[in-house]
Amino acid sequence: MMANRVSCQAAKACWVCACAVWSFGVLSLVAAAKPPPAPTRDAVEAALVREKSEPGKDGPLRLVLLDDRKDHGPDGNGLHDYPLWKKRWALLLGGFAASAETHINLHGVPIKHADTTKGAENVTVEGARGWPSDAQFASADVIVAYCYLAWTDARKKQVTDYLGRGGGLVLIHSATWTRPKADPDIAALVGIGGFTRFRHGEVRVELAAANHPICRGMPRTLLLKDETYWPPTPQLDASLVTVLATSLEEVGGKGGGKQPQSLFWTYNVGHGRVFGSVPGHFAWTFDNPWFRLWLLRGIAWAAGESPYRFDNLALRGARVGT
Ligand SMILES: [Zn+2]
Repeated sequence: MMANRVSCQAAKACWVCACAVWSFGVLSLVAAAKPPPAPTRDAVEAALVREKSEPGKDGPLRLVLLDDRKDHGPDGNGLHDYPLWKKRWALLLGGFAASAETHINLHGVPIKHADTTKGAENVTVEGARGWPSDAQFASADVIVAYCYLAWTDARKKQVTDYLGRGGGLVLIHSATWTRPKADPDIAALVGIGGFTRFRHGEVRVELAAANHPICRGMPRTLLLKDETYWPPTPQLDASLVTVLATSLEEVGGKGGGKQPQSLFWTYNVGHGRVFGSVPGHFAWTFDNPWFRLWLLRGIAWAAGESPYRFDNLALRGARVGT
């Protein structure tokens, strides 16, 4: 009961939370389950685009990882664990210079990897809690947000200015769900203004833009156990937003049934670039090397760099099958 009470308080705190009170029983079942089978190292290796590593080729990048207090229940339940993600991905991207953690995976026992200490070449990683500082908005090349974002008019203006000067923005899961409700202003800012429905369970990720550079070598179908949000609200403007992958979701109403709904997307606004990921509910999803690759390429693309700059990080401490 204590766990439920704590969880309900957390759900109340994020009252628009897509996965709140209704789903707690389902959540418990899914959380107790195992992640889907991991891909083999060979399968992922074959998809990595290994550009020649030349000293000085990769220019300096400043990344800001934005989290907030964990929601969806107590520490250790593997749901919406933004602080854990921030620590472990600071290690993945910035090495020991950016994190005191010793392993990168978020779920299960530590997965050792020889290159854990290194991070990416020529990358500086900072953390932010709740919202980046003015100084971070001024200096960041990419802000990666994994938490609900408390939008205000002032913050919309701040992000507008940030993207206008060529900043990159990556939104993961909760950061794509606009509170208190979907907002056309946010759609104009980041491509998708929010969602109204959600579902936990099996997510069949289908490539929708196989020729996009981010999608190079990605599997046409990827099975995750996570959470989907849909439909994009207001309706997605396909002339402005590039949907990279979709899942089939029940749309209901006249002519209903299941229709493809956006899971990963890119959006250019001014000189700025936005990459969005609907998946990211469960900690285990971040250990899937394919999901890693989606996010790492999204971060590099949002920086205006080769999307493959971080490909070599996808398998570091990731969960792979045999
Ligand atoms: Zn969620």
